[in-house]
Amino acid sequence: MRFGLIAHRFHRQSDGALLRWARACDPGIRALGLGLHAVGGTCDALAKQGLLSAYPPLVRLPYGPEGGVMRLVSCIAGGLEAEGELDGIIYFVDPVDPSSLYPETQALKRQCVIHGKPYVATAAGAAEWIDVELAHARKPCGNLRGPLASRTVALIAHDALKQRMVDFAAKHFDLLSGFAARVGTGTTGGLLNDMAWSRGWPADRPWVTRYLSGPMGGDAQIAELVLDRRCHQVIFFEDPHVARQHEADIQLLERAVCSATHETTCFNSPAMAERWATALGLAPNI
Ligand code: PGA
Repeated sequence: MRFGLIAHRFHRQSDGALLRWARACDPGIRALGLGLHAVGGTCDALAKQGLLSAYPPLVRLPYGPEGGVMRLVSCIAGGLEAEGELDGIIYFVDPVDPSSLYPETQALKRQCVIHGKPYVATAAGAAEWIDVELAHARKPCGNLRGPLASRTVALIAHDALKQRMVDFAAKHFDLLSGFAARVGTGTTGGLLNDMAWSRGWPADRPWVTRYLSGPMGGDAQIAELVLDRRCHQVIFFEDPHVARQHEADIQLLERAVCSATHETTCFNSPAMAERWATALGLAPNI
């Protein structure tokens, strides 16, 4: 398994999120033998601190301006030959870094969503995802399930994926019911409540607290919850194949998630959410 690795300058500082992650997750990364294809400056920052040293699966790509990020996009889509293909991206995003708005950055996430590959954009997510892969590899991992009871999860789906969201939530109903609370955008939340009530959830209580519909401001309301650290996990089934009238709101929510990088995780495709949920079933309950 091979992941692309990038960190914005802010996260590459000597006590930054990239270096703390590499230090904490070093044993897990080595246990997985996880290939890490790191863009130039990210790789240099690791080398400068002596992190992931003598680890041959760490591969250095060119700097961003020399095409490092653009190459990652192609590799997520499948690359030019089989050896070039990547299975996911870990990207320590600083939402105020101008390069977070570059076309290749947007394309990188979009290709991950299209190909159902993990796109992990926060420090909390990067640590969690190593445990997700360890669980799938049946190797010792941290407690993925433990923190749920104190967390709020947001459930949002674009129109073409609403049924997928209802199916996902029905399949993992007990798991999602184990969160402290669930919130959602208006239409998605309504469908999820109907599903929950049909399964015997108490009729006088919504399963999901609904905010406005996404295009009417619901994504922005959930972003405010994220900024307040009142929502810690966003499961957002995005439709990458249509022009979205409220693209700005969608990106606003993503940027809120990345600005709460140590407290928040985000899954933006059914495949990524399913891989996480399956890992929880495989991981030991500590
Ligand atoms: P909706 O919003 O659940 O109200 O359709 C989702 C979105 O488009 O963000």
